Amino acid sequence: MAAKSKSHKYVYFFGDGKADGNESMKNLLGGKGANLAEMAGNQKLKLPVPPGFTLTTEVCTTFLEKKKTYPRQVKSQVEASLLKMERIMGRKFGDEKNPLLVSVRSGARKSMPGMMETVLNVGLNEKTISGLIAQSGDERFAYDAYRRLIMMYADVVMEKAAGVEVKNGKGIRKLLDEKLELIKQKQGYTSDTDLSAEELKMLVKDFKVTVRKVLGSDFPEDPMEQLWGGIGAVFSSWNGKRAFEYRMIEKIPHEWGTAVNVQAMVFGNMGNDSCTGVAFTRNPGTGENKFYGEYLVNAQGEDVVAGIRTPAPVNEYSKNPQSEHFTTLEKYMPNQYKELYGYQKRLEQHYKDMQDIEFTIEKGKLFILQCRVGKRNGIAAVRMATEMFTQKLIDAKTAVTRVAPNQLVELLLPMLDPKAEQTAVVIAKGLPAGPGGAKGRVVFTSDEAVEWATNGEKVILVREETSPEDVDGMHKAQAILTTKGGMTSHAALVARGWGKCCIVGCSDVEIHSETKTFKGKNGVLIKEGDWISLDGTKGLAYEGSLPVVDIDIDQNKSYRDLMKMVDKIKQIGVRTNAETPVDAMHGLKFGAEGIGLFRTEHMFYGEGSEQPLFLLRKMIVSKTEVERRTALNELFQFVKKDVKDTLHVMRGLPVTIRLLDPPLHEFVPHDSAKLLELSKVLGIRMSVLKRRVLALHENNPMLGHRGVRLGISFPEITEMQIRAILEATAELIQSGEKAFPEIMVPVTCTVKELEHQKKIVDRVYREACVSMNMKKIPYSYGTMIEIPRAALKANRMAEVADFFSFGTNDLTQMSFGFSRDDIGGFLPNYMDQRILNEDPFQTIDQDGVGELIKIGVERGRKTKKNLKVGICGEHGGDAESVKFCHRIGMNYVSCSPFRVPIARLAAAQAAVTWPRKAK
Ligand code: PEP
Ligand code: MG
Repeated sequence: MAAKSKSHKYVYFFGDGKADGNESMKNLLGGKGANLAEMAGNQKLKLPVPPGFTLTTEVCTTFLEKKKTYPRQVKSQVEASLLKMERIMGRKFGDEKNPLLVSVRSGARKSMPGMMETVLNVGLNEKTISGLIAQSGDERFAYDAYRRLIMMYADVVMEKAAGVEVKNGKGIRKLLDEKLELIKQKQGYTSDTDLSAEELKMLVKDFKVTVRKVLGSDFPEDPMEQLWGGIGAVFSSWNGKRAFEYRMIEKIPHEWGTAVNVQAMVFGNMGNDSCTGVAFTRNPGTGENKFYGEYLVNAQGEDVVAGIRTPAPVNEYSKNPQSEHFTTLEKYMPNQYKELYGYQKRLEQHYKDMQDIEFTIEKGKLFILQCRVGKRNGIAAVRMATEMFTQKLIDAKTAVTRVAPNQLVELLLPMLDPKAEQTAVVIAKGLPAGPGGAKGRVVFTSDEAVEWATNGEKVILVREETSPEDVDGMHKAQAILTTKGGMTSHAALVARGWGKCCIVGCSDVEIHSETKTFKGKNGVLIKEGDWISLDGTKGLAYEGSLPVVDIDIDQNKSYRDLMKMVDKIKQIGVRTNAETPVDAMHGLKFGAEGIGLFRTEHMFYGEGSEQPLFLLRKMIVSKTEVERRTALNELFQFVKKDVKDTLHVMRGLPVTIRLLDPPLHEFVPHDSAKLLELSKVLGIRMSVLKRRVLALHENNPMLGHRGVRLGISFPEITEMQIRAILEATAELIQSGEKAFPEIMVPVTCTVKELEHQKKIVDRVYREACVSMNMKKIPYSYGTMIEIPRAALKANRMAEVADFFSFGTNDLTQMSFGFSRDDIGGFLPNYMDQRILNEDPFQTIDQDGVGELIKIGVERGRKTKKNLKVGICGEHGGDAESVKFCHRIGMNYVSCSPFRVPIARLAAAQAAVTWPRKAK
């Protein structure tokens, strides 16, 4: 036994039809180790897996914590397992005549492809090499294996894991590789396989001398030393830069650690009756249910991954333009192909998901080296999930968990041609604020964007940051790139709402407005009018014009099928944030069940805003209530029409209309021409007007005279809006339509504000019923909860409010004290130093802000059991946040139209994991 019953088990053996572990033990054995155990030990699978053992993730965490030392029992458990391997293989580790060679590979709980290290051919030295020559009957092969070991070992164990600093940017692997290349060059060889046994022998000698010279110690001859060196280095690679960064992106906890798998080597490079390959049970690019894969004759696995040689297709289906002239495995080794085909069917049936399989054929004998759930793109994920459901391989609940919510983005937006991206020059990297792909010519101001676009040019607006005044240009641009700002900065918010491609916070871009140029990554200079292309999903900008591919979601049957399942399963509503009938229609198309946030101020920005904006300005600079009322009366018709058009599109679905929110000074003109016009209309002198404008200035407008505070200072503003909403509703109902507005008061912190505004609502309601000749006009009255105090006082707020909508943009801002527009300046430092793991404006900080939300919901519902609760901050479209909202009992989430499908899917996934008792 590898472990005595009393001692702790650190090493799990697999092989010869048996295994200590199984597929359910991923946390301990890593994905790879658990699957190896399953494949080797499960009687239904019975796959030809070379024997080996797994050192658990526990060993890794202890090793990394305890200054690279192992728990006491590990050594004996490894030795015992090695003995078993030797027995099964009929070879001995370190034996001169018949040596056993092993591979040492990583395997974390979640696959991190290529992010950690591997050492192959461990056990080879000056003595065992003769045994390998005898086993294989091929000296050339044996020396090739030896030189690979030295190269990998020197790189992974002696340099990287030992923390040796690389001189002149050239690591040992590169130095050794150059030696190999030199021989090839001298001899005019095109491939590594052209090297003779004699040349490889010389190379091995040369490698050893170089290793000693560069790294200061010898390549170890002792196989046991090699093995422990390899194991330690693979564990250490968990903390390597690449792995660390990957975990940050994929949100894999750093505490998990990796397992290490030591497995008997089998060789795909033992001649032309050997090969190695990777295959998928379904096409990972399209999702089509066809066996798909590639292989290389006379090669080791790393050759396939490294792309040194172009692999051949396993069957006709897998052919592509580069590989169509190669012989398929099906033709080359028909029996082995048949066997492999059988195994892949068995594996998919067993795991009930698409598998990625690594196989090797050594002298005609097939081995399965690894299987894992295969990575796939969004399009393939949706197709596989729905087709596996139709085939009754999985149920609906499983199907909806098979697609990551963010993968849906790939199905919805036009994107850059991924092939073109591979070779394009990256000029900037920032936060992926608005997904999809776009290309256009660079302009630096909103006015230029409008002008160029009007002349039929496709433009990309590049700015340090954007403000409401830029909205027109932003709208006309194909995409937006800013050098500052975070995920909820103005640019990000607006772009996401429109489903427009946008990258913010590209801190490596320097804009020179005087010369109308910007300097990108690596000093690339881009001038006004130059073409650039943006991948807003990845946050990458490229030089030049890359092809953009369009997508029509309604054409995608798999998507429709998936979303049908989603809607049956989810238990929380999904609405959209929309300010225009067009936005509302987009939202409906994507499955929104109402509008969760209609920002009334939208009518004062962008196209068609000239007149209402002018009237608003007139109102703002008015001195007396009479002046203000005159302006408001003129504005009334515009507000009413705006509301009515959207209520009409939504056909009776709830529409949450928020009263005017931003501070008034945001709308005040600053250019003299506009000021002059205003002074003429108002009949006041410029100096007087300027004084009034100046008086509106605030030091901290985010915390200033905005939201409900405007309605308290100027009740007539509230009055006009309520009248517009109620009359619009009444008119629609009178013409036989349905309409249901929910009037929402923003930026409240005390129930008294709500009471104050409610009095106005009640009065205007009575007046509207009379003037419209109606007994009642449907509406409800509620508030945003976006100030921490409001959440804490939710019991009181609910005495007046029929509903709450959490404004998590402001709630996050005010809970952290982080400005939502300036977080880009310090967030990267916070992330690098692991003070924060994610941007709290993107995904709800469940610990802090989430606590406030929970308190808000609980206290609100204590007062009003059936209080309707939703969220309308940007988080409403973030999958993790949606799941949180489901868990704490919200009725709905609301997000930008293009994020509605994502929120629906996330809501369904939440319902699968945390089902609520009653729908
Ligand atoms: C919020 O604060 O979360 C919100 C939705 O309002 P706004 O973004 O308009 O401040
Ligand atoms: Mg807000």
